[in-house]
Amino acid sequence: MHSHSKGFFTGLKCRECGRLYPAEATHVCEFCFGPLEVDYDYATIKKAISREKIASRPKSMWRYKELLPIEGEPTVGAQVGFTPLVKADRLAKELGVRECYIKNDTVNYPTLSFKDRVVSVALSRAKELGFTTVACASTGNLANSVAANAASAGLKSYVLIPADLEQGKVLGSLVFGTNVVGIHGAYDQVNRLCSEIAGKYGWAFVNVNIRPYYAEGSKSIGYEIAEQLGWKLPDNIVVPMASGSLLTKIHKAITEMKKVGLMKTTKCRIHGAQATGCAPISHAFKNGSDILKPVASPKTIAKSLAIGTPADGYYAIQSIRETGASCEDATDVEIIEGIQLLAGCEGIFAETAGGVTVACAKKLVANGTIAATESIVLCITGHGLKTQEAIAGHCGQPRLIHAKLSEFDEKIYHADFKK
Ligand SMILES: *Cc1c(COP(=O)(O)O)cnc(C)c1O
Ligand SMILES: [Zn+2]
Repeated sequence: MHSHSKGFFTGLKCRECGRLYPAEATHVCEFCFGPLEVDYDYATIKKAISREKIASRPKSMWRYKELLPIEGEPTVGAQVGFTPLVKADRLAKELGVRECYIKNDTVNYPTLSFKDRVVSVALSRAKELGFTTVACASTGNLANSVAANAASAGLKSYVLIPADLEQGKVLGSLVFGTNVVGIHGAYDQVNRLCSEIAGKYGWAFVNVNIRPYYAEGSKSIGYEIAEQLGWKLPDNIVVPMASGSLLTKIHKAITEMKKVGLMKTTKCRIHGAQATGCAPISHAFKNGSDILKPVASPKTIAKSLAIGTPADGYYAIQSIRETGASCEDATDVEIIEGIQLLAGCEGIFAETAGGVTVACAKKLVANGTIAATESIVLCITGHGLKTQEAIAGHCGQPRLIHAKLSEFDEKIYHADFKK
């Protein structure tokens, strides 16, 4: 499959040695084994894009299409992105900061996680490259998004997941009629198998051979945060990390906005958040190291973040350092408290990854990394209805009564108001 780029992207480039590659379904440099990344003609984009032009377009992530790696118009996920940036005053007070916003990807279209962003780019590009079967290795949300978007695009799909995922995530793939394959093992084993299958059958694995295009979709969160703040950056962004890709791409988005003249500054600290039971990036950062120690068997309720060998962990640490930021990790108890704090303060029900982000933000403020005078944006990346078992038994029970006013008076009203 061969293609000559007609868009604003010029091809792929090795992140390590800088060698250029055509815009094909490939992701590793043949010379140094570095990861390939999409390369753009920023001078041309600078002439083509402006704040006004972006503002005139529909409210989806595709309003930044010059900075996304497809040649034509998007054919998958035209409605994805531009999720609400919610001013979270009550949460700000609880955390102890001046200003807090939630980038609310719990309501991203169509599968309620930020993964719809990466998948809409990956599948649009896979179609341009002529693929008819798409696939992924997933910790759950990616599988849901590939399944849904492939269904609506009429593509055949296979999603491979660790066998022990939450029911909501498994059902949330099966319903679309995709082929769900549960693997006895952790995500790293799923991913290794997917690399072998991709090589053998020539499918478009969104996060293997299509990964350079897929990963670019995450940049849209960065552009949206800036635009929704009136083309300003917050002092801090807190980002949950699995492979570490989302964090590195928010950083790339911020540097690009300056390159193409949308912003004058890149000043913004991008902090990473992980679950303590699978925190190879956070632990390396805290040890002052660039070397990630793989986590062979993750033990955390934040299954969506449970990647023991994060593909972009090294680059995530670079981004965190370069922006002057830090890393934290949260235990299962803290994750549940984080979910409840966000729900109780802002009426937003996040999945376990959201609990990780809130809990880590709380720690970053408490330990003085984020000052009380600063602003924070929290990336809340997935919906809580998909990970219900994580909080089941932690939120109390309904009080049961018969349908009698006297019983309501006595057992509910009196108990609550006449104490
Ligand atoms: C996949 C995922 C992430 C992190 O993704 P990476 O880009 O691999 O770091 C964060 N939150 C949720 C809910 C996810 O599903
Ligand atoms: Zn290279």
